[in-house]
Amino acid sequence: MSAAIAASTDTHLQVSGATKSFEGTAVLKGVDISVSKGSTTAIVGPSGSGKTTLLRLIAGFEAPDGGTIALNGTPVAGGGAWVPAHKRQVGYVAQDGALFPHLSVGANVAFGLAKRGKAARDRVAELLEMVSMDPAYASRHPHELSGGQQQRVALARALAREPELMLLDEPFSALDAGLRAATRRTVAATLARARVTTILVTHDQAEALSFADQVAVMRDGRLAQIGNPFVVYTRPADRETAEFLGDAVILEAWLEGSLALCSLGGIAVRRPPAQGLVQLMLRPEQIRIAPDGPIRGTVVETDYFGPETTVRIKLHPLAVDPTRPVDPHQPKGGEVITIRHWNAGLARMGTELSLRVVGEGVAFPYA
Ligand code: ADP
Ligand code: MG
Repeated sequence: MSAAIAASTDTHLQVSGATKSFEGTAVLKGVDISVSKGSTTAIVGPSGSGKTTLLRLIAGFEAPDGGTIALNGTPVAGGGAWVPAHKRQVGYVAQDGALFPHLSVGANVAFGLAKRGKAARDRVAELLEMVSMDPAYASRHPHELSGGQQQRVALARALAREPELMLLDEPFSALDAGLRAATRRTVAATLARARVTTILVTHDQAEALSFADQVAVMRDGRLAQIGNPFVVYTRPADRETAEFLGDAVILEAWLEGSLALCSLGGIAVRRPPAQGLVQLMLRPEQIRIAPDGPIRGTVVETDYFGPETTVRIKLHPLAVDPTRPVDPHQPKGGEVITIRHWNAGLARMGTELSLRVVGEGVAFPYA
């Protein structure tokens, strides 16, 4: 399959088997990723998993120990190839933006330009407009800007070199929630308009899911899963990925064919990976409070968040048929699950609720 991807003329970046160690510690343990032209990829993963290292290899600030990196089908690193950073047409915006504090905004943006004089000033104005900033900001200094404006100037400076591929390393993480969403939208729109292929590193799963065409989940130096946001969220490859990308309800279940029997009833599982005892994963929004729902539980804890309330529900024990032999795989009920509901009034402690599950579950085999 990767050979077919590598052969596509639409492929902008191809990383194959990339490894990297620092002082004898393996940081990247064999990374494969393919990025098509003009697309947006988000790389998510816990701190220290190797995200920045991967970007630095792609940018050309470091060389891989093993594996290869190709841009537009041309090898740039590995297998004897080496193209230095300044010849890769790759832009890089670091987490802190790293503007030159003693230079004006205009001079910061112009830093990457070959032009001088009026041509440079015109181009700086154009670049500032591209990131939704008034060109009048050119005369200000970085300390006179908000965090979001500084990030946009850093992006304008990176865009000045007209990169074909833009690498954004947690560029929004220092911003507060409202500004963060607005800056992310501006940046995404700017890069899409300029048709720049973009890779965004973030540890914010919501940011990744909303930003990207393709989400890659990095864990301990490897990509645990790559796919479109809907697929990685609804069909995560393993439990860690499931829990990293959002809240998950995980129950023990007995899988027969494509039906998982658990305390929430019989749940359909697409592509069952195993039979017998598994862990079944559902997203909390799949579990609905419904008056005619077949599953019963009691609210044991609630947490009010404004538009939503987190509700912890202890499932009622399931009836055992005394006339039948004991089946060790029969679900017993009694687990506590966490769901969300918009109606805080419904979720008072001690309230008995009926529940219904919608959609399919995902089964993970026990290791
Ligand atoms: P992330 O961006 O996912 O947080 P990094 O790629 O920055 O992770 O780092 C992964 C691991 O590699 C960390 O343990 C970090 O300390 C180590 N590391 C990164 N760069 C270097 C370096 N130049 N020298 C030594 N160790 C490094
Ligand atoms: Mg990092």
